[in-house]
Amino acid sequence: MDILYHSTRGDASEITASQAVLNGLAPDGGLYVPAQIPLLETAPEAMTAMSYQEVAYEVMHRFLTDYTEEELKQCIAGAYDSKFDTPEIAPLKKAGSAYYLELFHGATIAFKDMALSILPHLMTTAARKNGVTDKIVILTATSGDTGKAAMAGFADVPGTEIIVFYPKDGVSPVQERQMVTQKGENTHVVAIRGNFDDAQTGVKKLFGDAALAEQLSAAGMRFSSANSINIGRLVPQIAYYVYAYVRLLADGKIQAGEVINVVVPTGNFGNILAAYYAKQMGMPFGKLICASNQNNVLSDFFKGGTYDKNRPFYTSSSPSMDILVSSNLERLLYRICGDDTGTVAEWMRQLTSDGVYSVPAQMQEGLADFYGNYAGEDAVSERIHALYQETGYVLDPHTAVASAVYEMYRKETGDDKPAVIASTASPFKFARSVLHAIDAERYDAMTDLEQFDALADVAGLKTPAAIEEIKTAPVRHDMVVDIPEMRDAVCSILKL
Ligand SMILES: *Cc1c(COP(=O)(O)O)cnc(C)c1O
Repeated sequence: MDILYHSTRGDASEITASQAVLNGLAPDGGLYVPAQIPLLETAPEAMTAMSYQEVAYEVMHRFLTDYTEEELKQCIAGAYDSKFDTPEIAPLKKAGSAYYLELFHGATIAFKDMALSILPHLMTTAARKNGVTDKIVILTATSGDTGKAAMAGFADVPGTEIIVFYPKDGVSPVQERQMVTQKGENTHVVAIRGNFDDAQTGVKKLFGDAALAEQLSAAGMRFSSANSINIGRLVPQIAYYVYAYVRLLADGKIQAGEVINVVVPTGNFGNILAAYYAKQMGMPFGKLICASNQNNVLSDFFKGGTYDKNRPFYTSSSPSMDILVSSNLERLLYRICGDDTGTVAEWMRQLTSDGVYSVPAQMQEGLADFYGNYAGEDAVSERIHALYQETGYVLDPHTAVASAVYEMYRKETGDDKPAVIASTASPFKFARSVLHAIDAERYDAMTDLEQFDALADVAGLKTPAAIEEIKTAPVRHDMVVDIPEMRDAVCSILKL
């Protein structure tokens, strides 16, 4: 069965998976969605002897139907290799009441590596398949982790250029340092004076800028996106939810067909959407627990069906979730309104003009797969402290949001089915917040470098290579611009 893709907003043209990967965003501003969600072909119990790469193939080939088996297997092999510090790629660790699916063993020690290590392979393969000879310019807005992971994936990949925008004061010191020291002749980093939503809106504008597209085309280039709106990022993420279930089965923790809950610390709604797609493929997932930090737009949305971004924006200790417009939610809206692109387009129009839209009661049934709640800064800090005291396991602040919300969910509902929590970043990436939560008096006065060693001690872990690197790497990028100057920055970088 061939799966074709079209926009969530009404543009009816259907394109192949590889074309959707190349385009990133649909021409009408919508997101590409598969015309239907394919079912998993192989049952989880038949996958228990498979490696991560083999499970990934089982999942991905169902969606990316115009890639040949050989092409897809090469993409997978090129992505999930020794860049990851464990052959398991995504190990599952039990701590307290849940299983933590560690998605941070790649090059930049955050879960974005799971998708961004394969996206360049999917994209260059797609270009070859479609006879595209233009240079591909990746334009990305980042709340901290995407930018670095995208650059690590695309650095010095022939035929590509990558430009990353990040909010100057909205990322952690480690995240910023990781970005500004990025190597690769084709990598460019621009700080903006604004927050992540400004960066994301600015990038979307550049994608929709027809004059700019013409200038690019004349220069033999075209834009594409490495943001989680790209279907080439979403599909690889489905794989690890299937893999987690398969591991639980293989380890005898659950029976075949047993239902598990999935908990995801959520920002742009990409990661949890992948869990939703996995469920629609037939995985026995119960509640999809959507955990937000104090930027709790989604939590309110799942409680009342109204999405309202008119509220204060907070910067938190989980910066990759400091988001008020969760782009990928649009793909869920599309499903719950019965694939009605007109309705989605109207909601998105209201979101742009008024900052708010409401899903009518009869459509809210489609949201029943989800439970939303949020954890503020104190709850996050307490959760890191408590789980460490109880088990010795150390959470980063993003994962701690999920863990705290999961505890709320259990208390509220009494539902204690086995649960997998997506663990999205290494605690080393947020060492200062983590150590502050564990023992402020003891660790707050330490320098960043001292803290890395202290954390290694506390967690009983080796300092990841990504941290060792930034200790000495020279700064290579120092451009800072105002939001209206983003277009000029792109033109100057690309010499247009
Ligand atoms: C990006 C990110 C998230 C949020 O993921 P979404 O797919 O945007 O919902 C959570 N935690 C970390 C560490 C991240 O980098």
